[in-house]
Amino acid sequence: MGFEGLRYLVVGAGFFGAVIAERIATVLHEKVILLDKRSHLGGNSYSHIDGETGIEIHAYGTHVFHTSNAKVWSYINRFTSFNHYRHRVLVKAGQKTYTMPVNLDTIERFYERHLSPAQAYELIQSESVKDSLKNPSNFEEQAVLLVGRKLYQALFRGYTLKHWGTDPKLLPPSVIMRLPVRYDYRADYFDDPYQGLPTDGYGKLFQKMLMHQNIELRLKTDFFELKQQVPSDCKIVYTGPIDRYFNCQMGVLGWRTLRLEFERFKEPDFQGIAVMNYADENIPFTRIHESKHLHPERSYQKKETVICREFSCPAKKADDPYYPIQSRSDEEMLSKYRAVAEQEKNVIFGGRLGAYKYLNMDQVIADALDVFEKKISQQGSCL
Ligand code: FAD
Repeated sequence: MGFEGLRYLVVGAGFFGAVIAERIATVLHEKVILLDKRSHLGGNSYSHIDGETGIEIHAYGTHVFHTSNAKVWSYINRFTSFNHYRHRVLVKAGQKTYTMPVNLDTIERFYERHLSPAQAYELIQSESVKDSLKNPSNFEEQAVLLVGRKLYQALFRGYTLKHWGTDPKLLPPSVIMRLPVRYDYRADYFDDPYQGLPTDGYGKLFQKMLMHQNIELRLKTDFFELKQQVPSDCKIVYTGPIDRYFNCQMGVLGWRTLRLEFERFKEPDFQGIAVMNYADENIPFTRIHESKHLHPERSYQKKETVICREFSCPAKKADDPYYPIQSRSDEEMLSKYRAVAEQEKNVIFGGRLGAYKYLNMDQVIADALDVFEKKISQQGSCL
């Protein structure tokens, strides 16, 4: 398929772009080109089998599918089944390991005493009132209000500093508001009713979604190298960075990136869990991922494992953007980009890079289904 007469072009084969391309091909029965500059489908959700160990590796950090959205769950289950994995996270601080998010077990281990839920609540309240904070104006104040200063110092301060590269006092309180504090022993990271890992991995899920005669895939293809060839009446769905689309004319939006260092070990288990956070400031990485734990249903035969150390750093122009910094100046710049994006009548901006927003996979799928229904097919629900 060339570009002549092309009606739909999708830039980016992450979840946003993949859902749009799948819907155009299946519902509208139209041809669509889906391109990505990477050599694989799936964007940051991509996973693949490591040739040496046979272990499913999450190339851009652990991705657990979780949602409360029944429509998204029903849609995604057309392309994969899910295993019964339930995500749990531990955090190492000093010589000890704690449950995260903070629950009754975390509080008991930290204060080294047995506590009832009511006693634990009283203890945390008495710790947090010491700082007499009523209207927290930054991350640190919000965290101290939630868990008290001692737990904040031990489990949150160093991790947050490493992750955002900035003093938690300079971050908005909203960054931690999402994190629950539980006064029971529940240790599941997510509360959503639908959770799991695609049984055959994300790589296979994307292949199944996009294996359609109306979809032409072009990998290792940068949109900006062929933008001029796209017919002017072709609808473009662009899921790359919004500032890059406008050649960063109004400045570069701030992102954090990750450096992921993979290592194989000739032992069956490195840390006993898929994700271990490291709270101490003097340990340079924020987390270690060990993805074999994401598939307890698979009997990996080899007595080997693969881990990935995650280091957080500021993104330079050539780096993959991971977490939007969303400083005040970023937000001002973003509103200018959104205003010019409105003028691009044949271009739809979407996904986490197009929206400059941290979005989970289910939110991206929900947004893409919505955009398809309202802006592309304009026929209402097409599921
Ligand atoms: P992406 O997946 O980033 O896809 C965008 C694609 O566009 C990329 O493949 C890129 O190569 C391509 N592209 C960009 N510019 C161009 C161009 N000029 N030409 C061609 N192609 C281009 N979500 C969860 O629900 N659960 C999790 O456990 C979870 N864990 C996460 C862990 C980490 C470390 C991070 C950073 C995110 C995590 N997420 C998780 C969020 C998840 O990664 C996103 O929701 C999802 O990847 C967003 O999909 P997308 O299509 O918007 O973007």
